[in-house]
Amino acid sequence: MFGEASGKGLISIEDWSLWRIEACLERARGIFEARRRGEPIPYKVEGKTLATLFYEPSTRTRVSFELAAQELGMKVLSIQAAASSVTKGESLLDSVRTLEAMGVDVIVLRHPLSGAPAFVAGHSRAAIINAGDGMHEHPTQALLDAFTVWRAKGRIQGLTVAICGDVLHSRVARSDALLFSRFGCEVRFVGPLALLPRNPSALGARCFSDMREGLAGADVVIALRLQKERMDSALVPSLAEYAKRYGINSASLALAKPDAVVLHPGPMHRGVEISEEVIESERALIFTQVEAGVAVRMALLMDVVGE
Ligand code: ASP
Repeated sequence: MFGEASGKGLISIEDWSLWRIEACLERARGIFEARRRGEPIPYKVEGKTLATLFYEPSTRTRVSFELAAQELGMKVLSIQAAASSVTKGESLLDSVRTLEAMGVDVIVLRHPLSGAPAFVAGHSRAAIINAGDGMHEHPTQALLDAFTVWRAKGRIQGLTVAICGDVLHSRVARSDALLFSRFGCEVRFVGPLALLPRNPSALGARCFSDMREGLAGADVVIALRLQKERMDSALVPSLAEYAKRYGINSASLALAKPDAVVLHPGPMHRGVEISEEVIESERALIFTQVEAGVAVRMALLMDVVGE
C-alpha cells in the first residue's frame, strides 16, 4: 500500500521481488548455520552506520537489528523516542534528517502510524527499514517467519499456513500473508469475526471463524498476540473465553496436520492465545524464530548496504 516510496530499504513485503527475497533467505541460511556452529560470518559491512529509531516498545526487533549490524561490523546507534528530542516536539522527519546529517546510512524505524516509514523513505537519503508501522506491516518479521518455516519443512511452496487470533490489528499477519501467498501457500486467517479483516483476498488470504475449518490440514500455525493497545473497544468477551475458543493449545493443534509447526512473533501472552504446553512442545519454533531473526536481518543489511 505504501511501498512505492521505499527506495533502497524495505517498507513492505510487496517492495521486493520474490527473487530478491529468496536470495536474502538463501544468504540467511549460510549465516544461520555458521552462527550455530560458532564460526565467523564471512560477510562484513564496515564503515556503515545503522540507527534504530523506535517510537513504540520493542525487545526482539530492536536488539536483533542491533546485534545483526554489530556482527557485520557496522556502527550502531539506538534511539528510543521516549528519551530523545521527540519529547521536545521534534517531528519524525527532522529526527531522521538529523541522523542523516550525522552520516547514518540505515535507519530502522518503528512507528505507531501506518505509512510513517514510507513517508520518511520518500524524503531521505538513508535506507529506511520498516520495523513495524501501526497495523500496516512488519516485513522483516515475515522474512524470518518464512525462513523458520523453510528450515523446518524444507520448502515453503504449497504449504497451508493458518494465521490465528487477532489478525485485524496485526501488522505481522499482513506481512506474513503477503509473503506466504507469494510463495504459493494457502493462507488462512482464523479467529473470531470481530478480529478478522474485511478484505482478506487483498492479502492473498481467506477468513475462517471456525477453528475446525481453519486449522484442518494446516502445516504451519502462527499464533498472534491480542493487540489490546490497538483496540478502541472490548472486542473479546473475556481472556478465559477467548483462550478456550480461539487459543492454540493441544486440543486445537490436534485439528492441524500431525506434523504442523507453531510460530508466534512475540511477545506472547502465555495461556491466552497460546498455551504453556504448546510453547514448551517440540512443535513450537518460537525461539528458533528469534535466532533466525538475527541471521535474516544480517542478510537483509548485506542486501541493503553491503558491497
Ligand atoms: N512484535 C510484533 C509487532 O511488533 C508482534 C506483536 O507485538 O504482537 O508487531
